Amino acid sequence: MGAFNSQLGIAQSYYAATATPPLETTRLTGAATADVAVVGAGCTGLAAALAAARAGYSVIVLEGGEIGWGASGRNGGQIIPGLRMSAFDLVRKYGADHARKLFDLATSARDAVVKLIQDEGIECDLRLTGHLTGAIRESDMPGLEQEVRCMREVMDYPHASIIDHAAMQQEVARPYVGGMLDMGGGHMHPLNYTLGLAKAVIAAGARIHSNSAAIELSRSSVETKIQTEHGYIKAKYVILAGDSLLGDLDRNISRYIMPIANYIATTSPLPEEITLIRNDRAVSDTKFVVNYYRMTADGRLLFGGGERYTTSPPADMAAFVRPFLEKNFPQISGITIDHAWGGLVSVTRTRLPHLGRNGPVLWAHGYSGMGTILSTLAGRLLADAIDGDSRGLDLFRSINPPPFPGGTALRGPLHTLAMLWFSMRDRIGL
Ligand SMILES: Cc1cc2nc3c(=O)[nH]c(=O)nc-3n(C[C@H](O)[C@H](O)[C@H](O)COP(=O)(O)OP(=O)(O)OC[C@H]3O[C@@H](n4cnc5c(N)ncnc54)[C@H](O)[C@@H]3O)c2cc1C
Repeated sequence: MGAFNSQLGIAQSYYAATATPPLETTRLTGAATADVAVVGAGCTGLAAALAAARAGYSVIVLEGGEIGWGASGRNGGQIIPGLRMSAFDLVRKYGADHARKLFDLATSARDAVVKLIQDEGIECDLRLTGHLTGAIRESDMPGLEQEVRCMREVMDYPHASIIDHAAMQQEVARPYVGGMLDMGGGHMHPLNYTLGLAKAVIAAGARIHSNSAAIELSRSSVETKIQTEHGYIKAKYVILAGDSLLGDLDRNISRYIMPIANYIATTSPLPEEITLIRNDRAVSDTKFVVNYYRMTADGRLLFGGGERYTTSPPADMAAFVRPFLEKNFPQISGITIDHAWGGLVSVTRTRLPHLGRNGPVLWAHGYSGMGTILSTLAGRLLADAIDGDSRGLDLFRSINPPPFPGGTALRGPLHTLAMLWFSMRDRIGL
């Protein structure tokens, strides 16, 4: 997966082009010890490292590439409170009381991230302007109405409302039949957020080693050892925060997620006379293979989506995204695309994240396309569990998804089948 990810072009991304200066980090060489070793410098790993360091633990983070090199530094930047499973389905599956506890915890991620950004002075173009879900078909509206009712009446979440067809035309220059607005949502520059988090981690006394992939994890009764190419760490606790890229380091954990490649493009800054999104919302639609977009701080459309059946990246990512972008916004057909890149979204069978613990080894992954803020929460919950407070981790463990059949070996064929099925649903309107 690491080799594949490196073909997905983060260096050509809008985020890399507008990133805050990188932090000086070195490769791990020789022997090291720590209370907590973290594998992965995305938001899950960094949030875990920050909380553990602030609780007084010695912490070392190992990153195989560069900080923010995974999904955290290349995603759509959409802040969408909650979980990928709807509030309505949570209630149906787990009952109102349990669902509400889960929903409260998940949505608390939004305020926690906003507070972190403010406390640490992270410059990441944060916009708390709301998240819109655009309904493609009339038949999508009853589901959105049901969801808003559930959020307001069962979850006591007052920020979501239904937007009718006329109001939707005022919001987005694209013909949706209506939609749902969640004023708890918004967007940000995810790479700069991740880099800001990393800066806070270092300020809290932890070490981050980039270009230091963990290649072997071994356990004895007293300690856990993580081997890299040029060194190793012996630690009391290990946090696995590698998400789609963790791969073979621990197959028992990787078999719970399927990495699905997804591609994003940013246009050149739009001409002043063109407004596509009126109130600077983050927008996604009701398709199974979701289209999602928003404006950047410098006036470009950042658009993600489109289905691809093979796991290999397209040779020209801009050309791949363009037809999906232009189908949504024909009024900017032919516009220059300045940046295009891809990333791996880790999806679980239930679309709920997979958090867990096996003795001294803890993990969190599989946010199923809704990890921009959830990953920061999950990382902190893992550190809390090490520090003796397992309440948050246990709540997530109560909804753990099942693994994929056939483990990691069948993920390629399953990916193709899943994409065919999802895109067929979109075409025939199931
Ligand atoms: C294209 C795309 C668009 C998305 N859009 C959105 C969105 O708009 N809103 C939203 O909420 N979510 C979105 N997501 C999902 C979100 O980005 C992820 O859920 C979240 O970033 C996961 O964070 P993480 O820290 O767990 O994983 P990552 O950010 O992937 O971090 C894992 C890190 O671990 C490192 N690593 C892995 N294995 C090893 C190893 N063996 N040794 C050392 N290091 C290792 C990797 O190099 C990587 O840096 C999107 C994802 C993608 C790919």
